[in-house]
Amino acid sequence: MSELSELYQETILEHNKNPRNFREIEDADRSADGNNPLCGDALRVYVDLEGDVVKDVAFKGSGCAISKASASMMTQTVKGKTKEEAEKLFEEFHSMVTGGLDVETEENDLGRLKIFAGVIEFPARVKCASLSWHTLNAALHGEEVVSTE
Ligand code: ZN
Repeated sequence: MSELSELYQETILEHNKNPRNFREIEDADRSADGNNPLCGDALRVYVDLEGDVVKDVAFKGSGCAISKASASMMTQTVKGKTKEEAEKLFEEFHSMVTGGLDVETEENDLGRLKIFAGVIEFPARVKCASLSWHTLNAALHGEEVVSTE
């Protein structure tokens, strides 16, 4: 097993067991439901904005380890970022897991999210990894429901 996939396994397991920002935000400025029918992942993402800044972000729901770990790391990453920065990260993440961005050779701001580059080898898992990001993006655009199908 390569070092990156070992790190990937460990990180997924750890965040699945102990997801960060796994809670509701009462009276959130924005929220959206994300569904991945292929796997059965169903998440709700809550966003509180202060001007253009994501002041707080959290999620609730159920899903596989990858969808939960990805949501957990998504909330850690975008908290405190501007909407524009969050949207750029969404685009980079989406591009990475669908093969449009080579995180090793092309410039990006994904940081530790790069461990998800490994899902590219498991096409059925790409939607699990990107669900929370699609849902965040929908919430930021004022949409309430998003489905990966
Ligand atoms: Zn899943």
